[in-house]
Amino acid sequence: MLIVTSTNPVACCPVCQAASRQVHCYYTRTITDLGWADFQVQLKLHVRRFVCSNAMCTRRTFAERLGEPITAYARRTKRCASRLQTIGLLLGGNAGALLAKRMGLPVSSDTLLRLIRALEVPERATPEVLGIDDFALRKGQKYGTILVDVENHCLVDLLPDREKATVIAWMKAHSGVKVVSRDRGVTYADAAREALPEAIQVADRFHLSQNLGETLERILRRQYPTIQELFGHSDPVTDPSLPLKRWEAEKQVSQGRRMAIYEHVLALDAQGCNQTEIAEQLRMSRKRVRQLLKGPPQPPIYKQRSTKLAPHKSYLKRRFVEEGCENLAVKRDYHGILTEESVRKEGAEHAGDKLELLSFSGSEPDHTGFH
Ligand SMILES: [Zn+2]
Repeated sequence: MLIVTSTNPVACCPVCQAASRQVHCYYTRTITDLGWADFQVQLKLHVRRFVCSNAMCTRRTFAERLGEPITAYARRTKRCASRLQTIGLLLGGNAGALLAKRMGLPVSSDTLLRLIRALEVPERATPEVLGIDDFALRKGQKYGTILVDVENHCLVDLLPDREKATVIAWMKAHSGVKVVSRDRGVTYADAAREALPEAIQVADRFHLSQNLGETLERILRRQYPTIQELFGHSDPVTDPSLPLKRWEAEKQVSQGRRMAIYEHVLALDAQGCNQTEIAEQLRMSRKRVRQLLKGPPQPPIYKQRSTKLAPHKSYLKRRFVEEGCENLAVKRDYHGILTEESVRKEGAEHAGDKLELLSFSGSEPDHTGFH
């Protein structure tokens, strides 16, 4: 503990800046500073309260300011806070608090996070080439929008959702964007068209190649029986006359991939390679090699998640298949409860079951509670 007293005979009022020599009272402040060797250092400051010499000033008394290293109301010196902020940024709350304690700066994880939040975020210049995409805050549930400077490869901003209005508001507040690189969805395209009509819109390479890959896979999957015929293979397990659902096909492809790896492991084992050598060659863990040598991999079992749609599936199926309603007609029954997208998906699932799509007959749904 260091006991410190300010010796400056004059102090300036923070409101009117008038200098004063008239001391009103004394009080003490305890401030944490950086540690010295293995010792924790605290400054016990004797601070004076002055009377403002300006009769017109709104302040009667004021505490003397202690300069740049100790700001008003602070409980630690600026350099100490800055050290803790660095620790917090690198390690986060809990791990940061542990390290800080070892360094002689005991602090709670909450305080560490509060110090990080107090940091000023530098305002970044608006980029000329703006990259925009969504990212998952929680996969399948909550998405935000990420904005990047494509030329300098740095983050520009994060938006809390991926709504058109939010994106438009950001774009209108940040002028100067000349090119927008985006995914192939309509939201960002519409937002850019509305907020930045002069900007050129570009579909980014990642989304183009992803879409191309997916389309190609879908076409090849549809032609799978023909391809098998051409190459003289026949699959004894699947009946080619059965329509493959997308997830079934994906499951089949990934199981095929797993089996190929399994056979590769067996072949290397037969050649006399040990487990470490196999693991190195196939870039997998030794544990995985050991598991595969015990027996062939089993396809994973996926739990079916319940959806808001589940209780209404039988009703929807009847409307789609038996009554032949169009998507929007069914959506009208469920207005406000289901999204158009989920109803459309359900419709697509049953499209194959229908003989022909009849137009909406106008009959009212016979179940209650959804009007
Ligand atoms: Zn004053």
